[in-house]
Amino acid sequence: MRVYACSNCQNPLYFENSVCLNCRHPVGFDAAALTMVALEPNSEYKYCKNSEYGVCNWLLPSASESEYCIACALNRVIPALSTDSNKGRWKNLEIAKHRLIYSLLRLHLPFQVEYQGKPESLGFDFMADLPSGPHILTGHDNGMITINIAEADEVERARNKLDLGERYRTLLGHFRHESGHFYWDVLVRDQPPIEKFRRLFGDERRDYSTALADYYTNGAPADWDQRFVSPYATSHPWEDWAETWAHYLHMMDTLETAWSFGIRIDPVELEDTTGIRASIVKEPYAISDCDRLIKRWLPLCFAVNSLNRSMGHADFYPFVLSGPVIGKLGFIHELCQTGMRS
Ligand SMILES: [Zn+2]
Ligand SMILES: [Zn+2]
Ligand SMILES: [Zn+2]
Repeated sequence: MRVYACSNCQNPLYFENSVCLNCRHPVGFDAAALTMVALEPNSEYKYCKNSEYGVCNWLLPSASESEYCIACALNRVIPALSTDSNKGRWKNLEIAKHRLIYSLLRLHLPFQVEYQGKPESLGFDFMADLPSGPHILTGHDNGMITINIAEADEVERARNKLDLGERYRTLLGHFRHESGHFYWDVLVRDQPPIEKFRRLFGDERRDYSTALADYYTNGAPADWDQRFVSPYATSHPWEDWAETWAHYLHMMDTLETAWSFGIRIDPVELEDTTGIRASIVKEPYAISDCDRLIKRWLPLCFAVNSLNRSMGHADFYPFVLSGPVIGKLGFIHELCQTGMRS
């Protein structure tokens, strides 16, 4: 994500702002131009209908027949808005979802594909457990991403994180992970990259439910960090792909932010700065060689982890990327680059 400026007064804006705090102009995100704009009277834009609920600041052409922006049009089920806590949860979900959609637009990834004559579309169900109903599992099915809205509650999410022994658990991470399952269908399934996929991630024809049951019984092998980005990635090649996909989106989006702020990492007191220096002077989406991205990403993580520790926060990126994981990220980058060129 970039740092944006108000098109009226040049005050810097966050991606989520709907008013410029300097000139008080209403502002919003133009998803076609991927930029923030200030709205003038009689502007050629209108806000997405979800702006009425304070959960969206994206814009559409005022002539558009749709009431919803390209990100909100993908919602199929939203939380019941009868309680303030659900309204808060929905807002948290939308903040994360809009950042996911930004990344997908940035990578020119489609939201719909045809598979065996049938359309498969990206979409979202934000659902709650009901007292007598089944437990809602966060997951993906043919493009539809279901998120249990309890995950949008900070206390619930922290409890799940502890119970599962995870180092990182965020809504944005969930969205990125689940979108990976859809983009596996789009980029890999029944296509030539499947061979390379199987060499890197393993054979996905292995029975999925048995593999998951095994994982929940036995956990990850002790040496998981030699080949996988997370313990959960060991459960099945599809989950390995989705976990790695999420990390790819983490890296690209964060590098874009660092590039946009002109961040350079050049430790002053170290004689040998090999491997911990980085000038992020080129936007990451324009870099075709994944190793060059990694060479910037690792020093950035080290620096920002150190900043976080200075503030008493947990590490910003609590992961170590092994050689095989870097190979998997490179494969994903290759596939996305092909998409960006076409
Ligand atoms: Zn302004
Ligand atoms: Zn919207
Ligand atoms: Zn998954």
